[in-house]
Amino acid sequence: MSSNHGIPSRSENYGEWYNQLVLKADLADHSAVRGCMVIKPHGYALWELMQRALDDLFKETGHVNAYFPLFIPKSFFEKEAEHVEGFAKECAVVTHHRLKPNPNGPGLIPDPEAKLTEELIVRPTSETIIWNTYKDWIQSYRDLPLLINQWANVVRWELRTKLFLRTAEFLWQEGHTAHATHEEAEQEALTILHECYGRFVEEWMAVPVIKGVKSENEKFAGADHTYTMEAMTQDLRAIQAGTSHHLGQAFAKAFDVKFVNKENQLDYVYATSWGVSTRLVGTLIMAHSDDKGLVCPPKLAPIQVVIVPMGRDEETRERTFGASDTLAAELKKLGLRVKVDKREKESPGFKYNYWELRGVPVRVEVGPRDLDSGTVIVARRDTGEKTTLPLGDVTAHVAGLMDEIQKSLFQRALEMREANTKRVDTWEEFESTFAGEGGAGFVLAHWDGTTETEKAISEQTKATIRCIPLTALDPSDDQPGVCVKSGKPSARRVLFAKSY
Ligand code: AMP
Repeated sequence: MSSNHGIPSRSENYGEWYNQLVLKADLADHSAVRGCMVIKPHGYALWELMQRALDDLFKETGHVNAYFPLFIPKSFFEKEAEHVEGFAKECAVVTHHRLKPNPNGPGLIPDPEAKLTEELIVRPTSETIIWNTYKDWIQSYRDLPLLINQWANVVRWELRTKLFLRTAEFLWQEGHTAHATHEEAEQEALTILHECYGRFVEEWMAVPVIKGVKSENEKFAGADHTYTMEAMTQDLRAIQAGTSHHLGQAFAKAFDVKFVNKENQLDYVYATSWGVSTRLVGTLIMAHSDDKGLVCPPKLAPIQVVIVPMGRDEETRERTFGASDTLAAELKKLGLRVKVDKREKESPGFKYNYWELRGVPVRVEVGPRDLDSGTVIVARRDTGEKTTLPLGDVTAHVAGLMDEIQKSLFQRALEMREANTKRVDTWEEFESTFAGEGGAGFVLAHWDGTTETEKAISEQTKATIRCIPLTALDPSDDQPGVCVKSGKPSARRVLFAKSY
């Protein structure tokens, strides 16, 4: 039953397909610590490429990087009521700063004499420590805006975890900006959503997203409102790929961050925060990969081209290795990330599988017979298509393929999403759509805008409101109607799905 590498196929068991793929494609491993993963070099290289592209986008839009402490005094955390309520249930707390030998048996115990006078929270997000710092940095409108990002790890004690998608510790970036006016903060939250996150996910990850506002019930704890982008996985669930929050003046009030505005009056500062995490790696895997393993969009592939030279004897290998090195050098000159797989013990077939599993977008096979006729074979990972090409044409062809694969992965994902998005107008159809165990695609339905109805819907169907789309997918989605559950008036359709 099983397909390649002992990984079940997507149709057999999607969840297990994902877990096994992550492990076998050398992206990450489980660790000795519950819910925490080891990111392996191949997975980390993918994350580094994501970081680089995102960091460039942040800098292009005027942001700078800084770093704040891992530990947050508990009292800071308690200052913003909604925030603490949202995060308290998943906090790791540091109580001692020293261990000592256990007087009653083997091992070590926290030294009672080294008990902290104030407990420290391992940051689940850094609004509180950062706004406590901003208090010292902001006095006047001339100090604003403050456009700061940090790359860090955070800890949220999640009980249900899944490699990359939901871990107890994860890597992310968190932007924390301060503004003089509500309008400026709003503009910032939207700039991040559209020009950084939306662009990155669609142009680099080749994953189409629906951008929108979270409902009150789903918004970030402490935010005025939360923008999100939602992607679809191949098992037809939604993934929240990134969020950008307009925090209003809540954190400025909690930390007493006032400034003198242009009218010479004291006012509280407006804030935003925004983050994407290693969940993006999981999103990428779920969006594109197939039963042979990872399918990686060329822009984020740690290795974009693998060249496999063949030859059973030394003399043949000398020829194919030489031709491969020359080709690799030409491709590298174009800025491509290239690897020549010269392992002698492994067969070509083994190598093809090996690199397919790891998601290399293009493979070039350099065989002695092809070389005799001045050709090589170029294979695409996404379609499996193989083409025989004259050596002289390979570089240009491969460079072109990078763009073509990037575009075609996006197109394929978009078509999947479109084929699995529907409009539902009756509760009967809504319930039956989400009746099965797995994902059921995206549903655009009317909702009366109340948390009560939203909760009733999710309790009965496990489908949640992913967002209120900023731009209607179809103009009719913005027309008023009646709520699919309560029958009360609804201003527009909102997006429902089961999610990760
Ligand atoms: P938030 O601060 O809750 O808005 O989350 C910021 C980003 O981190 C979002 O893009 C989430 O999708 C992502 N995220 C939240 N929790 C986790 C987790 N446990 N593991 C990985 N990513 C997460």
